[in-house]
Amino acid sequence: MTETDTKSISWKWLKNLLKLIEDETDTKIIIDKIRSSFKEFLNFETTEIYIVERPNDEKDGKSYVDKLASSSFFSRDVIEEIFLHKNPYKISNKEIVYPLELENRMLGLIHVKSKLPILDYEHELLWSFCDHLSIKLDSLFFPIQFTPESKTKIKEISNSIFNNLKGFLEASLEKLKLLEDENLQLVKLNETRIELINNVSHELRTPLVSIMGFSKILQRREIDEALIKEASDQIQSAGSRLSRMIDDLIQLNRASNKGWEITIENLDLGEIAEFVIESLSPLNKEHSFICIFPDDYPLVDGDRKLLRQVIENLLLNAIKYSPEGGNIKCEIKVNDAKKKLYFSIEDEGIGMTEEETKKVFDRFYRAKNTQTENIAGLGLGLSICKDVIEAINGNIYCESTFGRGSKFILELNF
Ligand code: ADP
Repeated sequence: MTETDTKSISWKWLKNLLKLIEDETDTKIIIDKIRSSFKEFLNFETTEIYIVERPNDEKDGKSYVDKLASSSFFSRDVIEEIFLHKNPYKISNKEIVYPLELENRMLGLIHVKSKLPILDYEHELLWSFCDHLSIKLDSLFFPIQFTPESKTKIKEISNSIFNNLKGFLEASLEKLKLLEDENLQLVKLNETRIELINNVSHELRTPLVSIMGFSKILQRREIDEALIKEASDQIQSAGSRLSRMIDDLIQLNRASNKGWEITIENLDLGEIAEFVIESLSPLNKEHSFICIFPDDYPLVDGDRKLLRQVIENLLLNAIKYSPEGGNIKCEIKVNDAKKKLYFSIEDEGIGMTEEETKKVFDRFYRAKNTQTENIAGLGLGLSICKDVIEAINGNIYCESTFGRGSKFILELNF
């Protein structure tokens, strides 16, 4: 076995021995345990352990010296020498006396005698053991005594520490939660921004390309009348698409900042719809607008400018998403009992699947299929319509059949 192995085994033995006496309170049992362990492990010729019985807390040391001297293990000179220096006393290289001492309190002595010279590391081991044993004995002889007042004080202090800590932890957790929420909102905002930039730059480019392409045609010297008409129509239509998208962006910005300035008044929805249809008709020859309004219907509470924008948006979508043309039907129905007016716009266009219909009011949502891929848009218009309608305490919903057409319904109060 190497020297390192031997040393490591010895330190393990020391640890085990300390564990063995850890919970022991009877000094006689402690002495027995130490003695038999020393005998088993160190194989010394002699191991004598003397522990002072009930030492008092005198610092002059006289009473300890007297007590130890009376044990008749050692001469008074040896004991006085140990007490003076508080160091092990080497009688020879085979025989050492170790003090059990703590803070000037002599608690006992351990005397060992070996057949062979005691090695340095064995000496270190024993000295360390004596230090540990001294602490253990001192705690036995002089347990910390608390008066009832100090006990109450300690309880109070520990309670207050606990409460402060608890309060601090709770506050920290709450702060952490707030920070997490804020962080999540920032992440979402950032995602929305990135999505917005991607969508906007792509979608704005499409009508711009159209405008630039057709203006180039107009710059040519010799072009016939029909081509001039076609090019300018195309430029006008691309320009209005561009302007719509910019309007959507302005509206979105308004919605996420302060909201809208709303002026509620009594409005004739049929009249507003007819006004919008009139402004859109010249550009849309392929669609027929049909209005089915009852002879008499109530005025609704709403903001004129905003409602006009919503109806324009829905009508433009109806045109946009029925590229083959067809009828676009505007209808008003009234429920007097509920004091609700239902205004619907129905087209015969491409329609949507059930899944798509559920998402149309989400910001930036666009149904992606072969039918929609050539139709420009930012996926913002309907989400803005929803914001507006909810701001005037109304509702908006959609019914659609894929390949057949869609119907958007406004439910408003009167
Ligand atoms: P945009 O038209 O600019 O894409 P909208 O918010 O107005 O944005 O519409 C969101 C999506 O809902 C559209 O991309 C389209 O897929 C679908 N949609 C809206 N209106 C209709 C309609 N009348 N018919 C079929 N699909 C529609």
